[in-house]
Amino acid sequence: MAQIELMPRFNDFPAIARKPLTTLQVNLGYVCNQTCFHCHVNAGPNRKEIMTGETIAEILAFIDRSEITTLDLTGGAPEMNPHFRELVVAARARGIKVMDRCNLTILSQPGYETLGAFLAEQQVEVVASLPCYLEDNVDAQRGDGVFQASLDGLRQLNALGYGQPSSNRVLNLVYNPLGPELPPPQAELEAAYHQHLEQHYGIRFNQLFTITNMPINRFAKTLARKGQYQSYMRTLRAAHQDANLEGVMCRSLISVDWQGYLYDCDFNQMLHIPLAAGGRPKTHIRDLNPQALDHAEIAVADHCFGCTAGQGSSCGGALKAVS
Ligand code: SF4
Ligand code: SF4
Repeated sequence: MAQIELMPRFNDFPAIARKPLTTLQVNLGYVCNQTCFHCHVNAGPNRKEIMTGETIAEILAFIDRSEITTLDLTGGAPEMNPHFRELVVAARARGIKVMDRCNLTILSQPGYETLGAFLAEQQVEVVASLPCYLEDNVDAQRGDGVFQASLDGLRQLNALGYGQPSSNRVLNLVYNPLGPELPPPQAELEAAYHQHLEQHYGIRFNQLFTITNMPINRFAKTLARKGQYQSYMRTLRAAHQDANLEGVMCRSLISVDWQGYLYDCDFNQMLHIPLAAGGRPKTHIRDLNPQALDHAEIAVADHCFGCTAGQGSSCGGALKAVS
């Protein structure tokens, strides 16, 4: 088979610098109970990379010497890390907001029966992937049976108060396109999700985040196999909006990998592009002085157009610079 060409081609993404750090995004490992084809982590049940208790202690030490207000937990399925609960409890005890990027199906897996109640008790904000409100589309992207298992997870969360009016248990959903196109306008799609999920399944949630598929890892290879990689890159670059540069997530976030090394964002982590502010090939969280991040340069490359195309995209959805 011919070699798949995934190298960057443009090298003209604008330079950006950091704002005050608010969020620590921690990748607790690449193990996951699913193997979605768009996964930018290449996560799955056979991955062995998982954060140790020692690294988690170093993360808590960084929280204590920084001014972050939010801990954003991701993976893989972050809940599959055996230290997940102790990290959540320790962060909440420090008054830190905790977000769990949950795939929903984990809530119905054997051994995770008490997970929903734990998240509710700790008032963890759940950010859950549901790339469509139609069963066939979700199963096509995330695997057979995933839609029904996701509904089971959503029902569990709703029963615990998540997504209900006047509840402080926040449940946000994440949409990403099925193929190589930009997401539709977030507000309109959110209204359609609310209407369909409530009417057909009685399910409630707070907000919908639309996220652009990043042209990296499993999704990039799928595009390349179909001969769509280069055209998708051109689509992203042609839709770039300078106004979105203001809100890209790397300006206020750093990403930590399962071994404790730092990156400007989760996507850079997957591409092995280290934190620019570190000034060395790899900077470990135990060595980072938060002051070193002040106005520091961010490491950018062609995939960054995935964050600035159209309405923009971040781990909190559209950037709304362009509506
Ligand atoms: S996209 Fe999420 S749920 Fe799917 S394989 Fe990757 S980490 Fe797991
Ligand atoms: S891919 Fe990462 S570094 Fe690039 S703009 Fe997006 S958040 Fe920033």
